[in-house]
Amino acid sequence: MIIILFGPPGCGKGTQASFIAKENSYAHLSTGDMLREAVKSKTETGLKAAKIMEEGKLVSDEIVISIIKDRIEKKDCEHGFILDGFPRTIAQAKELDNMLSNNNITVDLVINFSVNDEVLLNRIEGRFSCSGCGTGFNDETKMPREDGICDVCKGNNFIRRKDDNRETASKRLEAYNKETLPLLPYYKDKEVLFSIDGLSNIENVTKEIMSLIQK
Ligand code: ADP
Ligand code: ZN
Repeated sequence: MIIILFGPPGCGKGTQASFIAKENSYAHLSTGDMLREAVKSKTETGLKAAKIMEEGKLVSDEIVISIIKDRIEKKDCEHGFILDGFPRTIAQAKELDNMLSNNNITVDLVINFSVNDEVLLNRIEGRFSCSGCGTGFNDETKMPREDGICDVCKGNNFIRRKDDNRETASKRLEAYNKETLPLLPYYKDKEVLFSIDGLSNIENVTKEIMSLIQK
C-alpha cells in the first residue's frame, strides 16, 4: 500500500505518519526529516538544502526526487510506505508515478488534511520534539506528561526546528498554496483523494486514517 499524507505545514501529517507507519508496518518516508538529516551530516545535498529550508522555500525537485528514488528501493518499503511531505509539486508527483509504474504499482491513497491557516501558524510556533526519540510535543496542545521529561524515552533534551518561527512558517504556507495545492486536482482525477478533518484531535484523526486504509 502506498499512501500520501497531504496538507500544509503544521497540519499534523508527520505525527500521523509515524503512528500509522508503525501500526501497519509501513516505512515512513519524510523528505523533511531526510533533508534535515542531510543538513546535520553536512552531505553535499545537505549543504545545498540548508539555506533554502531556512528561508521556507522548496528544495529543488531534482534533489528530493533523487532522495525518494533511492529510498523507495530499500527493503523496508516492500510492504508499503507512507509519504510525508512528498510530492510537493506537480513535477514531483509525475516523477513519483513514473518510478512506481516501473514496478507496476500506483499510489493507493492520498489523504488530505483539511485545516485553517491561523491554527497552522499557532501549531508550528508551539511545536518541539524530543532529541532522543523524535516524539513531537506542543506548548499549547501536547506538553510532556512530566515536566521536561519525554513521555516515550524519558529523555530530557528537546529541540525546536529552525524553520518553526512565524516568519518562515508564513513563507512555507505561501509555497504550499502556490506549488503544492495544485496537486489536489491531480489526485482527484485519479480517484485516490480523500479528505479528513485535520482540526480534530490526534486520536480521531488516526482513527479516520486507519478506516480509510482498511476500506
Ligand atoms: P513542513 O511540512 O512542516 O513544512 P517538512 O519537514 O515536511 O515540514 O519540510 C521542511 C522543509 O524541507 C520544507 O520547508 C522544504 O524546504 C523542504 N522539503 C521537504 N520536502 C520537500 C519536497 N518534497 N520538495 C521540496 N522541498 C521539500
Ligand atoms: Zn523521547
